[in-house]
Amino acid sequence: MTARILSGRDVAAVVRAEVADRVAALAQRGHAPGLATVLVGDDPASEIYVRNKHRAARSVGMESYDHHLPATASQEDVVALIRDLNADPAVSGMILQLPLPSGLDGEGAVEEIDPAKDADGLHPFNLGLLILDRPAPRPATPSGIMRILDHYGIDTSGRTAVVVGRSFLVGRPVALMLGSRDANATVIQAHSRTADLPAVCRRADILITAVGRAKMFDATFVKEGAVVVDVGTNRTDEGLVGDVDFEAVKEVAAAITPVPGGVGPMTIASLLANTVALAEQGAQ
Ligand code: NAP
Repeated sequence: MTARILSGRDVAAVVRAEVADRVAALAQRGHAPGLATVLVGDDPASEIYVRNKHRAARSVGMESYDHHLPATASQEDVVALIRDLNADPAVSGMILQLPLPSGLDGEGAVEEIDPAKDADGLHPFNLGLLILDRPAPRPATPSGIMRILDHYGIDTSGRTAVVVGRSFLVGRPVALMLGSRDANATVIQAHSRTADLPAVCRRADILITAVGRAKMFDATFVKEGAVVVDVGTNRTDEGLVGDVDFEAVKEVAAAITPVPGGVGPMTIASLLANTVALAEQGAQ
C-alpha cells in the first residue's frame, strides 16, 4: 500500500480563499479585519513565522500590524502593549509569538489578551470553552489538523485516535477536538511516560504525532491502513523533517501528511480563519 498524501498546502489554499471572501464581505459593510502580531526579541525562527503571518494576512486582504519589542523588554512592557491592542478597534485579533525570551512569562502574557481578540485560541477562557464543547476560537494548529481530516472526508466518529504529545499548543487541544461531540473519536493521549508507545500507537485508526523528534515514528508504530498526521517540525541536516519516518510509514498507512506541506501551512490558514471570525463577531 502507498498512502494517499494529505496536502495541507492544498487545504490551506481553500481556507485562505474562504477567508478572502469573508474579508471582502466585511469590507462591503465598512469593516476592515486586522491581525496584530507581538514579537519579543530576535529569535530568527520566530521572526520568520511572524513575517509569514503578515504575508498571509495581506494575501487575503486583511490589515496586519507588526509590533516588535526588544529582547530586553520587561513583562510589564509586553502586558502594556497587549492592553493597548485590546483597546485598539482596528485590531480584530492578535497573536503573541511564543516562546518569549527566557525570564518572561508567556502563559501569563497570553492571559492578558482579550479572549474576544485571541486569534490563537490559547487564552484559558477559550481553552475552557473548548473543554465545554462550546464555540470559541480554537488553537490554530489543532484546527488545521481537524480541517485536513474533514477536507479529505476522513470520518473520525467511533474510530480510535492516538495523540502523542500533550502540550497546550497542540496535543491537549487536538485530543479534546477529536473527542468532541462533533468528531466523536475515542481518544488516547500518549506522552513521554506512556508505556510501550509503539503498541499504543498501533491501536490508532488515526495517529497524530506532536512530539518534536525527527523520524521517531517508524512503521512499527503504525497499524496497516491508519491515517497519520505528522505535526512535528524538526530542523535536521536533511532539512525540515517530521516526527514520522515518512518513507517507511507511507508503505503502511492509508493516508499521511507530509512535512513540509502538511500541518504547517494549515496553522497560518487557521489563524486567518480565527481572525476573520473574530472580526465578524465584532462587526455584529
Ligand atoms: P512540546 O511542548 O515540546 O511537547 C512535546 C510533547 O511530546 C510533550 O507532551 C512530551 O511529553 C511528548 N514527548 C516528548 N518525547 C516523547 C517521547 N519520547 N515519547 C512520547 N512522547 C514524547 O512541543 P509542541 O509545542 O507540542 O510541538 C510538538 C512538535 O510539533 C514540535 O516539533 C513543533 O515544532 C511542532 N509544531 C508544529 C506546528 C506546525 O504548524 N506544523 C505547530 C506547533 C508545533 P511530556 O508531556 O511527557 O513531556
